[in-house]
Amino acid sequence: MVKTEPEYSQSLDDLLRRCVGCGLCLPHCATWAETGNETHSPRGRLLLLGDMLADPNPETQAAYADAFDLCIGCRACETACPGGVPFSLLEHGQHLVAPYTDRPSAAMALINRKLDSQVFLSLLQTSGRILRTVLKWGWGSTWRRRLDKAPLNTGQLVRLLGSMPISPNNNDDLITLLDRLVGSASNPAPGPDFSGSPREVAFFVSCANLGLLPASSQRLVAILEATGHHLLPLENQGCCGALAAHTGRPGTAARLKRTNVQSMVALGSDDIVVVVEAAGCGHHLKDYGPEFQDRLVDATVLLGELLLPAMREVPLKVVYHDPCHALHGQGIFEEPRNILKQIPGLELVEPEEAEMCCGSGGAWGLLHPEMSNRLGRRKARNLKLSGADLVVTSNPGCLGQIADGLALEAPGLPVLPLMDLLWFALFTTPKKQGCR
Ligand code: SF4
Ligand code: SF4
Repeated sequence: MVKTEPEYSQSLDDLLRRCVGCGLCLPHCATWAETGNETHSPRGRLLLLGDMLADPNPETQAAYADAFDLCIGCRACETACPGGVPFSLLEHGQHLVAPYTDRPSAAMALINRKLDSQVFLSLLQTSGRILRTVLKWGWGSTWRRRLDKAPLNTGQLVRLLGSMPISPNNNDDLITLLDRLVGSASNPAPGPDFSGSPREVAFFVSCANLGLLPASSQRLVAILEATGHHLLPLENQGCCGALAAHTGRPGTAARLKRTNVQSMVALGSDDIVVVVEAAGCGHHLKDYGPEFQDRLVDATVLLGELLLPAMREVPLKVVYHDPCHALHGQGIFEEPRNILKQIPGLELVEPEEAEMCCGSGGAWGLLHPEMSNRLGRRKARNLKLSGADLVVTSNPGCLGQIADGLALEAPGLPVLPLMDLLWFALFTTPKKQGCR
């Protein structure tokens, strides 16, 4: 039943009263950590929301627009709050101030609207690879720092190109990269044989993975098959609609949802789970409705709950970055770590401020390039301080943002999709000494 406006306001007031002002959420909030400004904290934003509800006039909403516009929507505050104050309150505040927030430039608005187009992303990826190659050739490993200081730095454009998610385009390049870290050479191997009954699953590939990380998606397919999964086609699947919803296109988001719901219904049995590769898409797809909560399963959860087949040794210190859409949006914590702990020889390390957003936030990072840049560098410094040889994560946005931060703060420290590392452990063997 649709709530009437007074009922809605009443429940907002009740929810607001849950906040006792303890401040336990503050150290987990990336925007407060960077600015130290109370109005950029969850507690401060809730106080501003209380003002707006008590005195609903345009002047108040305009005055508070920046505070809500800067909220990344990472939900770290919701996870941290012992009183169960929901993130939906801050979302409501964002909705109230939306008419008063600065509009992006026409060019950025157009780019934002195209970020869920696989063709556009592929074009962006190709131009980004060419530009990075040229810059590395000219400036070496400090290319990103020099670009940051260069007169041609146009903020959003540099952020867009710098934070394009990349993983090795072919398996040989991935093996070369990891061989260099491990310090020995590898042979590609056929991978483990699965002899049990395969479980039927359908695979939802995000448009970002298709456009930006197609080789990584293929590796996940190989992993799923090697771990006893029979992949069914998810016909006519499309973008999940998260970016459309977050960039003010509710009509497009609703159309995409209808298409994807039809695809899942066409699978027939409710027992067939849909595996999702990108945490951001999984979070949005689960919001389609309660019937999708259990049906949609993040790839790290599906694999992290299994006893994985025997793997090769990978004697590296590895740090896992939790995407906010996984940790705070879906409560995923143990499963990706369970995958890593099953790789022989691997040492899992944890960074400081692990629960804090990396500053990607999908379209948010492009609309707030300066703050996003600071948060990416902060995350990179913490990852470097963990002493890890390799960073892994499981969301395209985080992958690009962390790669950009590391290029600025720790140019020698690589970041990969978690599934790329798992593929290496499952599908390669160390070359015997003396072999050529
Ligand atoms: S942790 Fe919860 S109760 Fe405490 S200040 Fe933050 S929102 Fe309020
Ligand atoms: S959603 Fe994230 S950025 Fe926004 S108030 Fe909560 S912790 Fe801070």
